[in-house]
Amino acid sequence: MSARQFHVETATTPPTAESAWTAVRDTLRKSCGQRSFDGWLRSLELAGVDSESGDVRLVAPSAFLADWVQNHFADQLAAAWRVALPGCGEILVEARADAPARSTFSFETPVVEAEVAPVVVIEPERGSQLEDRFTFDSFVVGKANELAYNAAKTLAEGGRLGFNPLFLHGGVGLGKTHLMHAMGHEYRLRHPGAKVIYMTSEKFMYEFVAAMRAKDTHSFKARLRAADLLLIDDVQFIAGKDSTQEEFFHTMNELISAGRRLVISADRSPQDLEGIESRILSRLSWGLVADVNAADFELRYNIILKKLEQQPAVSVPNDVVMFLAKRLSSSIRELEGALTRVLAFAHLSKRPIDLEFTQEALADQLRASQRRVTIDEIQRRVCDHYRIRQSEMGSARRAREVARPRQIAMYLAKQLTQRSLPEIGRRFGGRDHTTVIHAVRRIEELRAADAELDADVRLLIRQLEA
Ligand code: ADP
Ligand code: MG
Repeated sequence: MSARQFHVETATTPPTAESAWTAVRDTLRKSCGQRSFDGWLRSLELAGVDSESGDVRLVAPSAFLADWVQNHFADQLAAAWRVALPGCGEILVEARADAPARSTFSFETPVVEAEVAPVVVIEPERGSQLEDRFTFDSFVVGKANELAYNAAKTLAEGGRLGFNPLFLHGGVGLGKTHLMHAMGHEYRLRHPGAKVIYMTSEKFMYEFVAAMRAKDTHSFKARLRAADLLLIDDVQFIAGKDSTQEEFFHTMNELISAGRRLVISADRSPQDLEGIESRILSRLSWGLVADVNAADFELRYNIILKKLEQQPAVSVPNDVVMFLAKRLSSSIRELEGALTRVLAFAHLSKRPIDLEFTQEALADQLRASQRRVTIDEIQRRVCDHYRIRQSEMGSARRAREVARPRQIAMYLAKQLTQRSLPEIGRRFGGRDHTTVIHAVRRIEELRAADAELDADVRLLIRQLEA
């Protein structure tokens, strides 16, 4: 149902409990951020609204979650309900009747928000609003991100620049947004009064379209062009949207010519952005393109230590830190989420954080993250290991020194990902699925017959699953 239909309906008939609940969920998703919503609120169900008192009863799948929601989201819930269902009573959150008993959790002391808050995403909604905690100081540098970090730092310090724009790219949850906000803070600090604008590309699109509707693109453009530093995040969302792209290009062009600094991020490299015009691409490649890679173990370990520095009251033994760094490898966001969860559980249950406790607290997450290896990672690892170029994974060359690693990579793709055989074939230079089957069989045979190859494969699996 679109927002408009909803309004038309509510104008004539009073909202039902169900329609109010839908509206409340939408509001919460926006006000708390998608991540918090998914983590804590999505599983709530509406049990009913009392016809006399107007009290709203919500049920959570566990006592823990019910209490957590009461402690952390009561105000937001109440506010959203009051708007969606004027005249409603209290908002009660209970555990579902069949939920496991609470046993060890105690709620005598109020939970201190700062200590154990779930990761709340404050989407920078308005213009240049930057999140305080995303600074260079709180950013841990390692091999995976040092190029991006140094570029970001150089640009933000504001000396003479050899490059503009800066294009940051890398998978989700690896620190691109953090770096962009850090640049904004740093730039402002060094250039008091400078105009820094941070926006997601969705916001860019949205504002641009709104300006077009209002027949006032002039002030929108003027505002952006007045920026000394313009940071546009997640530009992959603009791809394919012609008029927005066009406007984006003009703005970018003018900013660069006027010597303003421009930073763009995306979840992939400029060349891989489909639907982005080639002239935009070539403009992007005038600047510096820096990738943010998946963090290695050492970086993950250091990030955890850094986060724990902010929690001096909590003691987390080293084996737990090692365990977390080892097992939560797909993104820093995931790593942070897991750490937050462990701290929250420990706080609520008043249990010390040891390995067993950690595994228990993260059971679901660990299961889910176990096998999230990508074909790209596999190809990269295998090519690193055999010292061949990654382009050989898709090439037609049949020489043994590239054909064997290619087969190993296909084998690993089959074993470690959920991808189908045709999909795997496509990712290896558009090969047929029968070629993949052949590779898998061949490597299986060789593993049984050739101890050295088997050791290689084992090592690769260990690295990929680390
Ligand atoms: P992206 O924009 O690449 O998807 P984010 O910048 O939102 O990722 O990062 C996700 C979370 O991980 C943020 O909370 C961020 O602070 C944290 N993070 C990522 N990289 C680092 C790092 N190198 N040091 C400290 N925190 C990091
Ligand atoms: Mg981001």
